[in-house]
Amino acid sequence: MSQHAIYADHSATTPVRPEVVAAMEPYFTLQYGNASSVYQIGQDARHAVEEARRKVAKALGAKSREIYFTSGGSESDNWALKGTAMADFLRTGRKGRIITTAIEHHAILHSLDTLKKFGFQVTYLPVDKDGYVTPDQVEKALTDDTILVSVMMANNEIGTIEPVGQIGTMLRQKGILFHVDAVQALGKIPIDVSAQHIDLLSLSSHKVYGPKGVGALYVREGVDLPSYIDGGGQERGMRAGTENVPGIVGFGKAVELATMDLDKEAERESALRDRLIDGILNQIPDAVLNGPRFDRLPGHVNFSFPDVEGESLLVLLDLKGIYASSGSACSAGSLEPSHVLTAIGRDKETARGSLRLTLGRENTQEDVDKIIEEVSAIVKKLRNMRAGF
Ligand SMILES: *Cc1c(COP(=O)(O)O)cnc(C)c1O
Repeated sequence: MSQHAIYADHSATTPVRPEVVAAMEPYFTLQYGNASSVYQIGQDARHAVEEARRKVAKALGAKSREIYFTSGGSESDNWALKGTAMADFLRTGRKGRIITTAIEHHAILHSLDTLKKFGFQVTYLPVDKDGYVTPDQVEKALTDDTILVSVMMANNEIGTIEPVGQIGTMLRQKGILFHVDAVQALGKIPIDVSAQHIDLLSLSSHKVYGPKGVGALYVREGVDLPSYIDGGGQERGMRAGTENVPGIVGFGKAVELATMDLDKEAERESALRDRLIDGILNQIPDAVLNGPRFDRLPGHVNFSFPDVEGESLLVLLDLKGIYASSGSACSAGSLEPSHVLTAIGRDKETARGSLRLTLGRENTQEDVDKIIEEVSAIVKKLRNMRAGF
């Protein structure tokens, strides 16, 4: 990335913080031991992994033994959904129902596609124009054979924060398991698995300034979940394979740092976000904000610009050194309009003209002003070209 580039795609991934790199470094070089080995460098690695587990647990209000390290958010989502479906099938012999929303990440939606192939049932709850699902909707959708409800804490494309605490409270009273994909929420809004009555919760390191390829699944004590990878018995027999010690250490450090100044940073990024939204609406009055105007993720902005191709906008922004995304990074390159934008009622044309700008720790007010200036100029230019000037 060039010196003056502005990175505004923090919902896709984040740069690793220097303190995190420093915390990881010894576990590549001096402390390279296998965390299952009995000699000193093995035991050092074991202590580091368990220390990271404590840090992740603390950030959620969970117990250390309720945290299992995985390869990231996608694996955690797959495990939570396929694992609870399998456990229920082994116990009851039925192929039950999972209830979710229409705007989940593909790690959820595609895991459910697989479960449907095996005969499980899925209910997709619609969302309102801002992307919200209500506890009442969830309650009405419950059936006798419902195994699990999965609702994301915050949406990666439009920044909507779902009422998972209320949903969790209702589900706990009814004795139904509740999974939450909190990948986008971690480090940005407080998470409390007890107060929010969450049974399973997915996290990813690289969205919180940690390394890629590591994450965690919180599994409330007492939840019946089978192992996901069978082998050498790591992660207390639940997820085999030699631990990614540097990755886990980095993840632990990143979570610790992110929760330390969460309120302050959330307030700062929310102010930048509001400045960006107001600035763009001021320059391009017919821009359509996707997701709620207030109470959205700090730093999260998503606009559709009528009569503008999202892809063209991205290419021209890239030339100006501004890195953003259109729809979600995971579906970049596909011409299908985003399932999230479609679910909040955008037509195909509007959905394709969307631009997601997600700010993070390094972004400043100067960055925001530069983004407003460049986006406005490019949108006007693209519209003029389209109009044949
Ligand atoms: C990024 C993301 C994931 C996937 O996490 P990985 O660690 O990249 O596998 C899952 N859910 C949401 C909401 C995400 O934003």
